[in-house]
Amino acid sequence: MTGLKVSNLSYHYGAKIALNEVSFELKTGEFCALLGPNGAGKSTLFNLLTRLFVSPNGHIEIAGHDLSRSPRKALAQLGIVFQQTTLDLDLTVRQNLSYFAALHGISGADATRRIDASLDRLGMLERADEKARTLNGGHKRRAEIARALIHNPMVLLLDEPTVGLDAAARASITSHVHDLTADGTTILWATHLTDEVRDDDRLIILHQAHILADGTARDISGKAPLQSRFLDLTAAPV
Ligand code: ADP
Ligand code: MG
Repeated sequence: MTGLKVSNLSYHYGAKIALNEVSFELKTGEFCALLGPNGAGKSTLFNLLTRLFVSPNGHIEIAGHDLSRSPRKALAQLGIVFQQTTLDLDLTVRQNLSYFAALHGISGADATRRIDASLDRLGMLERADEKARTLNGGHKRRAEIARALIHNPMVLLLDEPTVGLDAAARASITSHVHDLTADGTTILWATHLTDEVRDDDRLIILHQAHILADGTARDISGKAPLQSRFLDLTAAPV
């Protein structure tokens, strides 16, 4: 079954092409790293996947639902963690998640059960009653990821969620997020850091609006370290 399918997707900002005929397909439960330098088009792709932007060409299918024909069904299966953190720092972790649950029409005992389960998946249950402001950067991000899972989406998008975090926090988040695929969640993880990609991961390299490589990280890097392969690929003009 298909978790996420993108076909011939393009997007322009005026004369500037931000995505050029991008196509890929992720299987249910697949972890895919979307690796690209600044300006590659990663956030533009996420804005199209979340329907903040609409493209006149191309198709997007989320857990089998066509985003333009059945937007409600498609978006109901989508969880998103944006590049900028969006927690309310004056609320506790639990209050932040309750607020999000309410927006999705989830309340009462059902909300409590889902919030506890989501926080537990990210190792954040014991911090439920702490104010978001008091959390370190890594824990803030984990709270946001837990929040994005409350409505049990089939597909989770994360836009450079580790930016600004130290190496230990980055490693902990990448590891937690990899574990989320165990129940069949499909994950698209945008990053510009090759050390967040594992050999077994599906890897898509995006550069200047084009997909330059798509396969397993192991196959794409070949004998070279991924970092040098990535620099070679993105140094050449597209
Ligand atoms: P990434 O997330 O990979 O860093 P973006 O999707 O943000 O890349 O940007 C892709 C390209 O589109 C870049 O060249 C960027 O400068 C351009 N771009 C992004 N947003 C806008 C905008 N609102 N108006 C004009 N150009 C934009
Ligand atoms: Mg971006």
